[in-house]
Amino acid sequence: MTKKKVLVGLLVLVVLTAVGLGAFNFSNQGHKSSQQNSSSQKSSEQKLTNLPKGAKSTDWDLVLVNKWHPLSSEMNFDKATVSGATVDARIKQAVLDFQNGARAAGYQTNLISGYRSIQYQKEVFANVKKNNIAEGMSDEEAEKATAAVVQSPGSSEHHTGLAIDIAGSDAFEKYPNLEANMDQFASQKWLIDHAADYGFVLRYPKEKSQIKQTGIDYESWHFRYVGVKNAKYMKAHNLTLEAYVKGLQAAGR
Ligand SMILES: [Zn+2]
Repeated sequence: MTKKKVLVGLLVLVVLTAVGLGAFNFSNQGHKSSQQNSSSQKSSEQKLTNLPKGAKSTDWDLVLVNKWHPLSSEMNFDKATVSGATVDARIKQAVLDFQNGARAAGYQTNLISGYRSIQYQKEVFANVKKNNIAEGMSDEEAEKATAAVVQSPGSSEHHTGLAIDIAGSDAFEKYPNLEANMDQFASQKWLIDHAADYGFVLRYPKEKSQIKQTGIDYESWHFRYVGVKNAKYMKAHNLTLEAYVKGLQAAGR
């Protein structure tokens, strides 16, 4: 055998081993995550009682978008501009009321972002991935590193037009890149504490069990419109949107 052939043979062996290990890892992970799923299902499937009158899992304001429920195409709805951001026109007034409420309590707020198209998210994802590759990562590494910090296109709740990133102006000034500890500011605390009065919920809470349900780390600035009755119920029962929708479905709604 020539040296070259030996090398090629070795390379094939290495690749096959890597693929084998990868497959093993993958099936292992699949197993692990399905176990996790069933245990989190158990905890979030406790029967919900006194559900809000008329609330159904199929209501427009309860649409669930996450990494397990990605959108395959752009959603269609009337859009409106509010404080420089685009949102579903049906929540424009609620966003204004939320900001006005904060102002009346003494807090200026910044509406940082609202609706983002799947196309836009694709561009963001591609740009971050390109930078990772430019910094020396392989395609696979770059994809993984990007997915850890950027929602993959189709799975961002901002596609719905019902999600807003909003912060107390002082908190935003200190943390322009949005960080969890913006919640140390009284302005951000006010937003978190009063969101439900305006039909919003803090969508990605910080409890470990809830992070498992949402698949997203704690975000003290990301709020989701679900309507006042749903928001108040979710707040009172400490429910993520995932758990609430599941509970409605379990109740045949
Ligand atoms: Zn957000």
